[in-house]
Amino acid sequence: MKQSPMMKVAEVATGMEAELSFHVKRSPATPPVVNVAGRMVSRETYTLACAGEKTRPTMKLIILDRDGVINEDSDAYIKSPEEWNPIPGSLEAITRLNHGGYRVVIATNQSGIGRGLLDLETLNQIHRKMHRMVQEVGGLIEAIFFCPDVDEANPFRKPNPGMLLEIGRRLKCSLQGAPVVGDSVRDIRAARAANAWPLLVRTGKGARTLEREAESCANVLVFDDLATVAEYLTTDHE
Ligand SMILES: [Mg+2]
Repeated sequence: MKQSPMMKVAEVATGMEAELSFHVKRSPATPPVVNVAGRMVSRETYTLACAGEKTRPTMKLIILDRDGVINEDSDAYIKSPEEWNPIPGSLEAITRLNHGGYRVVIATNQSGIGRGLLDLETLNQIHRKMHRMVQEVGGLIEAIFFCPDVDEANPFRKPNPGMLLEIGRRLKCSLQGAPVVGDSVRDIRAARAANAWPLLVRTGKGARTLEREAESCANVLVFDDLATVAEYLTTDHE
């Protein structure tokens, strides 16, 4: 598929059958301007800045899991926009990351689709709500990659690293050391396999993950929530 700037605001499905693979849909709610590092720039300028070699080092990539990191998780899956509710402070955290020079991309397993619990249109509705609420606090989620498959062997389904590698390939960004924020051991394993930097939050399944997967969590930085991750990553630690 030909790369285009549209990809930057696309929702991308990976790892399903051919007709669903690389399904690309432009977010209808994408704002005309982007707030980057505290200043408003046009989308065209932003796109050029992301593509330009000279400015590339100023833009960093962060990959977020969705359920349990941005929104409250449910063992019964998030099946409708009504069930999608942000964790307090998570939307503002995305804005803070944007202002700190981060391109925010989501990588989320959505096996509820493969299980027949929701369809693609409903997932798009959920994501439109998420985009809208993030934009209302001045933030931008650049793209959402999701794997609708149930099959654990699917290379795109976390803990396999395919979805993260695909993000790096499509955005032409190195994953080396890029923060990957998750609440489950799947996120940690995928990040490690992609040579990225796993960060764990206690929200969602995070506290349970810390308790039950202590070995896998060894040497992983743990944060209370996405807000504290954003604070940490946008604060000078020297
Ligand atoms: Mg999760």
